[in-house]
Amino acid sequence: MKIIVNDKCQGCGTCEGICEEVFQVKNGRAKVIKNLDIPCVDEAIEFCPEGAIEKVED
Ligand code: SF4
Repeated sequence: MKIIVNDKCQGCGTCEGICEEVFQVKNGRAKVIKNLDIPCVDEAIEFCPEGAIEKVED
């Protein structure tokens, strides 16, 4: 499993606020800093206003 942020990201910072272990927003775009399968990732997926976070198979 891999966590990705797609091009719909607007850099709002919600994901970082929910799950700072995994997401960091820099230059208007969220980045996955650690590919951790932890519950806050699912929360960030749910609350991302752009639907920009996805879990994909390796
Ligand atoms: S919550 Fe979604 S739109 Fe906002 S910074 Fe994170 S990935 Fe981007």
